[in-house]
Amino acid sequence: MSGPTGGVVIAIDGPAGAGKSTVGRAVASRLGLGYLDTGAMYRGVTFGVLRRGLDPGDIESVARVAAAIELSVQDDGITVDGVDASIEIRGRAVTAAVSSVAANSSVRSELVRRQREWVAARGGGVVEGRDIGSVVFPDAALKLYITASPRVRAERRVAEIGGDVDDVESSIIERDRKDSSRADSPLVEASGAVVVDTSGLSITDVVDSVLRLLTPSRGSDDVAG
Ligand code: C5P
Repeated sequence: MSGPTGGVVIAIDGPAGAGKSTVGRAVASRLGLGYLDTGAMYRGVTFGVLRRGLDPGDIESVARVAAAIELSVQDDGITVDGVDASIEIRGRAVTAAVSSVAANSSVRSELVRRQREWVAARGGGVVEGRDIGSVVFPDAALKLYITASPRVRAERRVAEIGGDVDDVESSIIERDRKDSSRADSPLVEASGAVVVDTSGLSITDVVDSVLRLLTPSRGSDDVAG
């Protein structure tokens, strides 16, 4: 699907902890495309807001931070205003505040602009988030909506980073509620998206079935080769 001139965008959306990043990274590496985790960008702005001691709900101040902040998202981390924030953006404080920052329309328009610039500079890529197929790249070659039950998502997260399954599950449900109910670019299944429920599947199975979607007319030998 990636033609000689490039330009292929694969949009991956879905709720928190559904396996989007694992699937997105695997698909990008198999197809030789760049991978952009837009959640890391919203987390990076949130880190900058908290670091300045600002209230994440203060619309004007948060908008000013988003306009000026220097974000550099790499495959294995992020720097925010030159500071490595790869660990902190995954911590409790940022995770609890990120949905408020992401509901700010000025933040969204600034980050969407940067996401489109990132893709234009590379001629395509695998882009993961909440509004990628619905708003940022509605003409993406493939749109995936990756989901799983809140319980399964919580269990997977606890297996990775520890914690209490009930607590993790309630925080996942609360973040999904905020992300799905905000006025600007809420989390939705984009029109034309292929919905993949990963609840009963291993991530390897999911990656394999997504790669099959991308090469519908070929056999699996061709995909692997
Ligand atoms: O993907 P991740 O869970 O790291 O995203 C963190 C938060 O960033 C989400 O809960 C959501 O509030 C916000 N987000 C967003 N739009 C995106 C990506 C993430 O609003 N495209």
